[in-house]
Amino acid sequence: MNIEKAIKEASQSLIKEKIKSALLDSEVLMSKVLKKDRKFLIMNSEEEISDNNYKNFRKLIASRLKKKPIAYLTGVKSFWKYEFMINEKVLIPRPETELLIEQVLENYKNKEKVNFLEIGTGSGCIILSILKEKKSFLGKGIDVSKDSLKVCRVNANKLGLSSRLKLFKSDIDNFLLGKYDLVVSNPPYVKILDFKNLDDDVVKYEPKKALDGGLDGLTAIRKVIKKSSELIKNNGKLILEIAHDQKNEVKKILIRNNFYINKIAKDFAKKDRCIISTKI
Ligand code: GLN
Repeated sequence: MNIEKAIKEASQSLIKEKIKSALLDSEVLMSKVLKKDRKFLIMNSEEEISDNNYKNFRKLIASRLKKKPIAYLTGVKSFWKYEFMINEKVLIPRPETELLIEQVLENYKNKEKVNFLEIGTGSGCIILSILKEKKSFLGKGIDVSKDSLKVCRVNANKLGLSSRLKLFKSDIDNFLLGKYDLVVSNPPYVKILDFKNLDDDVVKYEPKKALDGGLDGLTAIRKVIKKSSELIKNNGKLILEIAHDQKNEVKKILIRNNFYINKIAKDFAKKDRCIISTKI
């Protein structure tokens, strides 16, 4: 079996299962097995692959046929400017979440020594990207999942950020430590009833805890806002990712908790995705 044939065969089986990025997925998984980049696959398409590599490749394709996300199969996901190690204990970083990083950078252009908190760190893609961009910032992260904190620590070490990061296993209700210039969060905000509209890839494999926003999608957002109003210094900011249809509800909750709404930012799909507010 050569590289090209194996990829073609795999790609056809993925197409049958209506997997949209069949060819790309097959190439990415072949790259992983051979430990070579995609360019190598194209330049060496007629090279024979060993039985063992072929077996491993077919195993990965079999998982992909069951809708396991590519990022969980490769164990990595690019976000912002970096590559993050991930596994099934953490939500896969989403490109639209990069908007949150942009908003932090825009609001803190000339600010140094900011002490910030992230509620629900997951893989660490948000807190670590911010720490990487802003060398004088100190970050604290909390997450309910011990396993996700492990992933975040690996990523912090890889990016050389451990000395400016403190992590705590805690839920929002029980965290009382410190006062912050800034709080960021991408809390779970999917309505239970909307779960049926999500792709199989998401529903079957991603941690429900990181997505489930309760009946109205706002259960965690309410808690994050309430807790942030206690933990943020006056004039400090809360920068929050929200679902595209939550703007009005979230504004109301923020106002009720003494926040002033600065801005609602749209993602690349022109959907309301990020809300920036100031504690007054
Ligand atoms: N944007 C994610 C999704 O729809 C949800 C992330 C979240 O709940 N914070 O898959």
